[in-house]
Amino acid sequence: MFDHPGKKVQTLASVLSVLLGGASLVIGVLLAGTDVLISVGVILGGVLVAYVTGLLLYSLGSLVDNSQEIRDSLFRLENGDFEPEEPATPAVRPEKPEREGRRFSSDEGEKTWQCDCGAINPNRIKTCSCGRSLYEVVANRLGQQEE
Ligand SMILES: [Zn+2]
Repeated sequence: MFDHPGKKVQTLASVLSVLLGGASLVIGVLLAGTDVLISVGVILGGVLVAYVTGLLLYSLGSLVDNSQEIRDSLFRLENGDFEPEEPATPAVRPEKPEREGRRFSSDEGEKTWQCDCGAINPNRIKTCSCGRSLYEVVANRLGQQEE
């Protein structure tokens, strides 16, 4: 019921936004018979409030979603688990080390990989300062997984 709260908050934000906007439209139109100024004010104010509320709530949903994704990625990285947890792609085996950096780094930041010595290197650097290469490290971890 409370799985993927971020996605649900985003959906809720959209629904709430449309409901609020729709309600203020209806109320505004109903008030048009009495006072046009109040009617227009209710419609404009209501739509604005609906938009801002939806935007804030949607941002919150994205925040929750992103932090959950980062946490899951860190967990997988710490456990040397390169497989995605989603059963949608069960048979995919990572062959190219470039894929790991893509999965474990954010869209904005530079893609990185973590060496066995603990150093974090950007993907454009293929050899760590300790002498291990990116390919050695990934091959080593894949080997450990099969044991
Ligand atoms: Zn190293």
